[in-house]
Amino acid sequence: MADILIMSSSATKKQIDNVIKKVKNLGFNVHISKGAEKTIIGIIGDTRGISDETFKILPGVAEVISILKEYKLASREFHPADTLIKVGNVEIGRNTLTIIAGPCSVESKAQLLKTAEFIKRCGGKILRGGAFKPRTSPYSFSGLGFEGLKILKDVKEQTGLAVITEVLSPEDVDGTMEVADILQIGARNMFNYRLLQKVGQVDKPVLLKRAFSATINEFLNCAEYILKEGNRKVILCERGIRSFDSTFTRNTLDLSAVAVLKKETHLPVFVDPSHGTGRRDLVIPMSKASIAAGADGLMIEVHPKPEEALSDGFQSLSLEMFARLMKDIFPVVKVIGKKL
Ligand code: PEP
Ligand code: MN
Repeated sequence: MADILIMSSSATKKQIDNVIKKVKNLGFNVHISKGAEKTIIGIIGDTRGISDETFKILPGVAEVISILKEYKLASREFHPADTLIKVGNVEIGRNTLTIIAGPCSVESKAQLLKTAEFIKRCGGKILRGGAFKPRTSPYSFSGLGFEGLKILKDVKEQTGLAVITEVLSPEDVDGTMEVADILQIGARNMFNYRLLQKVGQVDKPVLLKRAFSATINEFLNCAEYILKEGNRKVILCERGIRSFDSTFTRNTLDLSAVAVLKKETHLPVFVDPSHGTGRRDLVIPMSKASIAAGADGLMIEVHPKPEEALSDGFQSLSLEMFARLMKDIFPVVKVIGKKL
């Protein structure tokens, strides 16, 4: 099994091209990382039937490496450099800390516009807002649907903010893509393989939230489903997992997941401390901790009147609290060597 070919530092361009040609002739695609000294050629596809010798004999090949993990495109071995995702002029990953903020649900134009303008003024870069809401109870508010998308579109045009919204099913993807700059796959749908495949086939960044009880391996394999279809713009989001004590917090925010994901994968890693804790008073401290642990961004629920929110009011920050969060995280972002 040959997955990664490390070319020797003295390999010529002709030798590198020859190896790439050989890989392509075998029916595979390549991912090329050009380092200062060496070129690394990643082989995309199922390489189980390909022996190391196929490439070891080619001039210029220094090493042939197999990836024994189930996920390959998501792995750091395959793609050593951090992935950078651009959404308009907003950068996600590498040395930027990106703030996504907004209400849990889009409720009205006035609510979304007020929130969006405030977020923008404070330095938030991407507006969130659910139009299709997956709710625990079928009797709870389930979002404004297409009307919510229309509001997102209007507010996006008025403020210039990029927007992210959740898709619940493969049929929603095409319509949602016309408005959304990033598609969100919620925790409840992390294992929805048809949906993962569908968003893998479109040219739009995807934020994939970790399911309530998904292992890191399952999380990365679900990202791999998207990557395998061709979409390489995947953002991972830790949003709290189920643990034994939900007396004080809604979920257990797993910050070790952030540190381990930053090692295992090149994909940007976000944290949602709103769902992660379920309490607005814990959002600021856990935001600081997330940035310190290496997160590339935060997703924060904000509402102009949290006590009147149609969903997740208890964990939503008021506008004033959001302004405080932006002030409070600044020194942490700076000390970690990133820019907001
Ligand atoms: C949300 O972001 O509003 C949401 C439903 O989150 P999760 O899928 O993490 O529960
Ligand atoms: Mn919510």
